[in-house]
Amino acid sequence: MIDTHCHVHDRAFDADRDEVIARARAAGVSAMVTVGEDVEDSIRAIETAQRYELAAAAGIHPHQARNAPGDVASSLRPLLNLPGVVAIGETGLDYYYEHSPRERQAQVLRAQLRLARETALPVVFHQRDAFEDFVAILREEWHAGMRGVVHCFTGTADQARVYVGEFGLFLGIGGVLTFPKAQPLRDAVRAAGAATLVLETDCPYLAPVPLRGKRNEPSFVTHTAIKLAEVLAMPRDELAAITDENALTLFRT
Ligand SMILES: [Zn+2]
Repeated sequence: MIDTHCHVHDRAFDADRDEVIARARAAGVSAMVTVGEDVEDSIRAIETAQRYELAAAAGIHPHQARNAPGDVASSLRPLLNLPGVVAIGETGLDYYYEHSPRERQAQVLRAQLRLARETALPVVFHQRDAFEDFVAILREEWHAGMRGVVHCFTGTADQARVYVGEFGLFLGIGGVLTFPKAQPLRDAVRAAGAATLVLETDCPYLAPVPLRGKRNEPSFVTHTAIKLAEVLAMPRDELAAITDENALTLFRT
């Protein structure tokens, strides 16, 4: 299995990162993408990826858009050629917390979409409570051949159809899928189908049931995989093979 979205470079893992990554490998997690949230955090993600032979994404999260450098592209571009970097992100819009002004979130997102087009790298998206504006920006900035994933997908079947049908995006499925109240999400994911899905943890956040509330880590992706196989009425090894294949298609360099 591949954990397509984690933050193992986060300081939540400073005390025991070696053990966390060893546990992930022992649990069958063959690859991990550790995702940056601003320029400095992306550098940490890349250094961690290089040390542990992981992959990294470099980008600016909508929460951090207000602190983003004036020229986003010039700040990120030098990072994108470094060994281990497989994607731009995470980037997007977050109107739930709205830690950054909406207009600035949109500018920083557009800059990263243009950089993705220039570099042919896939994009890791974070979208919360901003579906309409997010899709409107994609309609202007997305071009044939671009690749991406909507991480921590928690939307409706209709939203999934737009992401997949209109833009060819993958949907990142994490611990929320296992939460008791997430039946609408399980229905949307079933409607979307296995060919559109990749697994993720978003650790240290959002640990799946039965570990909900604990610090999440990549080895816990197994619990999400078990639930996803159940939702799709599919054997676990088949689900793992399909989602791995999707992840490789998404992040191929
Ligand atoms: Zn994340």
